Amino acid sequence: MLLRRERHEVRGVVQGVGFRPFVYRLALEENLAGFIGNDTGGVTIEVEGPAERVEAFRRRLEAEAPPLARIDSIVVRETPPRREKEFRIIVSEASGQVSTGIPADAATCAECLRELLDPNDRRYRYPFLNCTNCGPRYTITRRIPYDRPQTSMARFTMCAACQAEYDDPANRRFHAQPNACPVCGPRVWLVAPDGTEIPSVDPVTAAIDRLMAGEIMAIKGIGGFHLAVDATNEFAVMRLRDRKHRYGKPLAVMARDLEAARELCVITPQEEELLLTVARPIVLALKRTGCGIAPSVAPGIPWLGVFLPYAPLQHLLFADSRVRALVMTSANLSEEPIAIDNDEALARLRHIADAFLMHDREILQRCDDSVMALVDASPQLIRRARGFVPLGVPLPFDSPPLLAVGGHLKNVFTLARGRFAYQSQHLGDLENLTGLDFFREALEHLMHTFEIEPVAVVHDLHPGYLSTSWAKEWAAERNLPLIAVQHHHAHIAACMAEHGIEGPAIGLSLDGTGYGTDGRIWGGEVLIAQLDGPDPCHFDRFAHLDYVSMPGGEAAIREPWRMALGALHAAGLDVESPEVISLLGAKPREVRVLKRMIERELNTPLTSSCGRLFDAVAAVVLGRGVVDYEAQAAIELEGCAVHEDDEMSRSEYALELWDGGEPGRPNVIRTNRMWKALLSDLRCGEDPSRIAARFHAGLAEGFINAAANARIESGINCVALSGGCMHNRRLARLLQAGLEEEGFQVFEHRNVSPGDGGLSYGQAAVAAAKLTKVGQ
Ligand SMILES: [Zn+2]
Ligand SMILES: [Zn+2]
Repeated sequence: MLLRRERHEVRGVVQGVGFRPFVYRLALEENLAGFIGNDTGGVTIEVEGPAERVEAFRRRLEAEAPPLARIDSIVVRETPPRREKEFRIIVSEASGQVSTGIPADAATCAECLRELLDPNDRRYRYPFLNCTNCGPRYTITRRIPYDRPQTSMARFTMCAACQAEYDDPANRRFHAQPNACPVCGPRVWLVAPDGTEIPSVDPVTAAIDRLMAGEIMAIKGIGGFHLAVDATNEFAVMRLRDRKHRYGKPLAVMARDLEAARELCVITPQEEELLLTVARPIVLALKRTGCGIAPSVAPGIPWLGVFLPYAPLQHLLFADSRVRALVMTSANLSEEPIAIDNDEALARLRHIADAFLMHDREILQRCDDSVMALVDASPQLIRRARGFVPLGVPLPFDSPPLLAVGGHLKNVFTLARGRFAYQSQHLGDLENLTGLDFFREALEHLMHTFEIEPVAVVHDLHPGYLSTSWAKEWAAERNLPLIAVQHHHAHIAACMAEHGIEGPAIGLSLDGTGYGTDGRIWGGEVLIAQLDGPDPCHFDRFAHLDYVSMPGGEAAIREPWRMALGALHAAGLDVESPEVISLLGAKPREVRVLKRMIERELNTPLTSSCGRLFDAVAAVVLGRGVVDYEAQAAIELEGCAVHEDDEMSRSEYALELWDGGEPGRPNVIRTNRMWKALLSDLRCGEDPSRIAARFHAGLAEGFINAAANARIESGINCVALSGGCMHNRRLARLLQAGLEEEGFQVFEHRNVSPGDGGLSYGQAAVAAAKLTKVGQ
């Protein structure tokens, strides 16, 4: 009999996902000898046996891999047979370059859930059960290789029963690193805001009693603490908002199961699929009227962020028939990072929560819940966090090790190396030192995890961003080169890289705020960019939304009525007319002051931002003069039109393309005609929902027209859509459909956020192209 021995080096997400037990069983079934071991590069397998058996093994390895595994590559080499008798699992060795992924955290699997609720199981109602197919991973891991001593489970010694499962290759918990049971594992307890333990026979039931009485519970989860209240209790929700100082921003609701979620929202089959993925993201779905959810959970919008339990502790809360839906919101004050440590939570939340449900499995990485929505029928990642981090996002070409620090709001950084970009979890706004601390903490962890030592640092062009000054300092300390990438260029590059497009593309970057090469605030841009040109940092600005004044600068972002004044003034309307003053809901004196500021160019930066245009329109159409959270006005404008048809009915709303006046100047997309049509509709008493729908259509039409003109000039037929406004599903849908109708090849974000959460990925793509391709 001809013996064959092969060495397989498997790369991808292959640690902590039950890969070794799977391979072990496979080798036994095929009657092969050899070994498997985790290494810092992934796993290495050697198998030896009859040639046809080895071949079958190779085939089945990819075809039957466990659900949480992701195989990126397998390198197979033949080696001399050693005539071994058995197949072994060998202990990890930490050496070599780290390129394996730690798996992301995964929702409780069906088998574990069954055990959790089975009174005869030894893990009945045990809040920390898990197996190789489910459970926490990234949030409990200090570094790779992913083995128990490298996780926060290191301090729990397995009891004999758990150890036996862990050692048994036939068991679902074979080498399940966080394996635990009530005898040997972590536990939960109830704590009062003063830090003393509240005695209770069953802390979970005690927590439910409090929730049902309208109390606010801080509950320690997988990636941090949640603040929870009964989502059907308006009084409790209002109390939470008051204490959290968070008034308008929608709160996410966890529903018991799919059926319960269906009672709250209209759930499409694709949304159902998203709700049930192992990442268990928050999914934005249409609220049902009369669904019983307290009005102040998601005021002013037709959607609800809904998600399903993903940790055993959450399943236990919902196992009580009294609990239908809970507000589960990240435990923090406004935009601060989510709390993870027991003492930290007590210190930061004792004035918010009435009691704390704590546990002693340490969270090593803060990770908020991820947020997704469907654009048409395709999923879009809005906030990349738990369940997605630290899975690498592919790059279209090799990158040297580099760090891209992202932007300012909704920060996410990216570490790139080789063919992968590792994006951090959503870090929130980098506006203060708390935000920066979280940034540093996450960076240290991810650099450590993947052993990436950046050789260059990429940052936004904005000189005033905290991320920019931090990047400069950090690079100077290490003597590393810096690369600056313009904000909207980075957005477009992100979309291109995600789809593997290197060649030139027309980019529509519709966004809130970004620093332009002319020092102005950009955000409604038609760019022409490429990742394989002589200078990947270079792009052409083909057109932009007409500049309008932001009277009062930053204040105009918080007070959209100021933006409306700036926009109407730029459109040539008399802003001091009684009609406009009444539309703005302002006092004549305020209007006069702002008008004078515009005329004298005092504290009135110019912007071409699409987000600000949405603000201006929302202020006029909905009377949304002041906002409580970022993009609120735009979200409400989209929401207001949700039941209107998409048709491009009124072309007088279409924005117009004008040439820049002189050669070499970008074209300008003007809004004058749109404003006139809009005001005339308002005068006729047209429904705000109709006006909002027409505005979306006219905006899309204007940019489609600009893209068509860019194609005439450049011959480029490929369009990349990006920027924060692409979270607006109506706009995204209209652009996609309209551009395709014009014969364009259209690319939209899927696995990378179109908003600022995707910025660092685009920065990394541009820098990688510059560093690797230039001079080749
Ligand atoms: Zn499981
Ligand atoms: Zn045990």
